[in-house]
Amino acid sequence: MPHNEKAHAMRALEEEIIAQNITPELATQAKQLVIGDGSLNADIVFIGEAPGKKEDEQGIPFVGAAGKFLNVMLEQAGMERSDVYITNIVKYRPPNNRDPKPAEKEAFWPYLLKQLEIIQPKVVITLGRHSMNYFLPDASIGEAHGQPQQVKFGKQALTVIPLYHPAAALYNGSLRQTLIDDFLTVPKLIKQ
Ligand code: URA
Repeated sequence: MPHNEKAHAMRALEEEIIAQNITPELATQAKQLVIGDGSLNADIVFIGEAPGKKEDEQGIPFVGAAGKFLNVMLEQAGMERSDVYITNIVKYRPPNNRDPKPAEKEAFWPYLLKQLEIIQPKVVITLGRHSMNYFLPDASIGEAHGQPQQVKFGKQALTVIPLYHPAAALYNGSLRQTLIDDFLTVPKLIKQ
């Protein structure tokens, strides 16, 4: 799909989410929908959990502390935010940053799959357990982190690489190093 058609499809998707009012509790309390950020032609899509305060204010995913760490890792891996696409399963900030409810994640799941259909990435990188478990329901992050897996969804076949969530790794030295080490293997995996 040419880029302008992708942009059009993504805007239509955003309007559809708003019109369908899929998670009214979140929609009324959040400042705005945070659909995603980056290139619609990206080979890599990162998927976090839900926007936090800064993301809600700016309408862009991963712009707070976790986002700064993500930016540093991208740079170390020779990538920029504009080379990849970054989104979350849940696209409204949950009140007081509570965990998104299973029903909220389920409500957004079909829209996330539509985003992947539009972008057609080679690789999906899940950030944290919650996003991983939607793609790899039986995986445990302690064992699966950094290991690419092939997943089929209807017509789409995807490589999914589960990584630890940057917010969890930020203040935990060993997790932080594991996340950085896993992250640095990504460029090689993409080239394969
Ligand atoms: N954590 C997430 O999971 N997503 C964001 O957008 C920011 C922090």
